Amino acid sequence: TARKLAAGNWKMNGDRAALAEVDALLHGLSEGCDVLICPPAVLIAAMADRVQGRIAVGGQDCHAKPSGAHTGDIAAAQLRDAGASHVILGHSERRADHRETDADVAAKAIAAHDAGLVTVICVGETDAQRDAGETLNVIATQLAGSVPDCATANNTVVAYEPVWAIGTGRTPTNDQIAEVHAMMRRTLADRFDDGADVSLLYGGSVKPGNATEIFAIADVDGALVGGASLKAADFGPIVAAL
Ligand code: 13P
Repeated sequence: TARKLAAGNWKMNGDRAALAEVDALLHGLSEGCDVLICPPAVLIAAMADRVQGRIAVGGQDCHAKPSGAHTGDIAAAQLRDAGASHVILGHSERRADHRETDADVAAKAIAAHDAGLVTVICVGETDAQRDAGETLNVIATQLAGSVPDCATANNTVVAYEPVWAIGTGRTPTNDQIAEVHAMMRRTLADRFDDGADVSLLYGGSVKPGNATEIFAIADVDGALVGGASLKAADFGPIVAAL
């Protein structure tokens, strides 16, 4: 069965002073599920030193190449060396801001797996795609193109994040989330030997107030949380709900 995971994506937020939030989070942490925080890259080493393995630390992107002349980019092995165990790949903000394609995401995932990182591969439809009835096709295409053949339940997590639900306070209905997650479970189970055990996260406006309801949906193994992961007062209750 798939492991439960509460993941926080700090995006381009937070500084060294914000590491105090992680201390507060650790303070209230109970056993039972995996917790991951992906801070900006400049904070990974400090955060990893601070949490001493009690929670996992991850990057928000990596390059597809192992090293070289790529100014401003970060290699998967460098994330690993800094103390990261995971990396988010193909977030819709990177697909939009940096024109990352499914093929780019798959190439990065291969590099991440080669470096021993667990990938959190993101997929999600836009508002217009949902309105056009294309949601399941869009997600299936993204899964096929972004998840590499070397994926296993141990090195890969998939996050379903509808673009229109990110940072908006709008969430899909429970039935809409269930429909996409069931399709993802089936698709991964068909393609990979242990595909049914890949953890499937929901992301997009997850808050303490809706986490319990979302975690009760079939095939939802956890959440990828943006805004509500920045403060222990919000993320702590979400972790507890899982
Ligand atoms: P919010 O939780 O702020 O909507 O962001 C979701 C997200 O994009 C996590 O990766």
